[in-house]
Amino acid sequence: MIKPQPYQLSCSECGWSKTFAPISDVLLPGQGFVSNCPKCGNSELEHKTAGPVKGLLVEIRA
Ligand SMILES: [Zn+2]
Repeated sequence: MIKPQPYQLSCSECGWSKTFAPISDVLLPGQGFVSNCPKCGNSELEHKTAGPVKGLLVEIRA
């Protein structure tokens, strides 16, 4: 079973960022991929995989 990787989206325009932590391979409504910044509408969001520390926190909370 493949474990979903937490990832972070951040906006270079306004500084918005959010970490997504999928707890299963099924995307729930409202938790799917965000393609535009909710604050400024920038469509070129930076997408990076969260580091091991964040991944650990997510595992504890899940
Ligand atoms: Zn933005």
